[in-house]
Amino acid sequence: MNIAIDGPAGAGKSTIAKEIAKELKIVYLDTGAMYRATAYYMLNKGIEVSNEEAVLSVLDGLNMDISYENSQQSVFVCGENVTPFIREHAISMGASTVSKIPAVRIKLVALQREIASKNACVLDGRDIGTYVLPNAEVKIFLTADSLVRATRRFNELKEKNPINPITLEEVKADMDARDKQDSSRSFAPLKPAEDSVILDTTNMSIDEVISAVVSLAKKRK
Ligand code: C5P
Repeated sequence: MNIAIDGPAGAGKSTIAKEIAKELKIVYLDTGAMYRATAYYMLNKGIEVSNEEAVLSVLDGLNMDISYENSQQSVFVCGENVTPFIREHAISMGASTVSKIPAVRIKLVALQREIASKNACVLDGRDIGTYVLPNAEVKIFLTADSLVRATRRFNELKEKNPINPITLEEVKADMDARDKQDSSRSFAPLKPAEDSVILDTTNMSIDEVISAVVSLAKKRK
């Protein structure tokens, strides 16, 4: 069984997907981490992520592997574990920009489909229900008011780095720009699949969202 969780930034997809994976004892595949790792690879090579030609010139050299230890996902790029470096705020927009390039998506989607074909998985991303796994048994589109999403992300960043220089306004502006870019790209944009269940989590607790998704998954099993 595969569960697709899509939605805009900060909707709580990864928090929910991790808990669902634990509860149902299935694999959690964080597909955003793959786009982030791609952006990291390009930036390290001095490649401008908006320069499609330059990105394509080094894309073949990008060897990505996903591994799991104690249910924790790690992303390896050309043998290097890049997981600790891809959560940086600065990587987020780079990931969104590089993910507009169809050849990048095709490469990463092939890996996502391979993992999902071998394991029962919960995948979170932007195009899982619409493009990666159109036959997923459960499709959720998680969303919330944009100020609530930005505040959640801001609090997360503040907790990781208490002397955090970024303001809530900056987090919200970046998030809005990323969502706009993700929903307006021509190839596999962010949008709910027609057969998805839309969950607006603005006024829901994490536990409420988890139990809603788990009960849906159990019904469709
Ligand atoms: O989910 P996360 O914030 O880590 O994703 C980073 C970026 O990767 C997103 O803003 C989006 O542009 C891209 N992405 C995507 N398709 C996915 C997952 C992420 O385009 N399935």
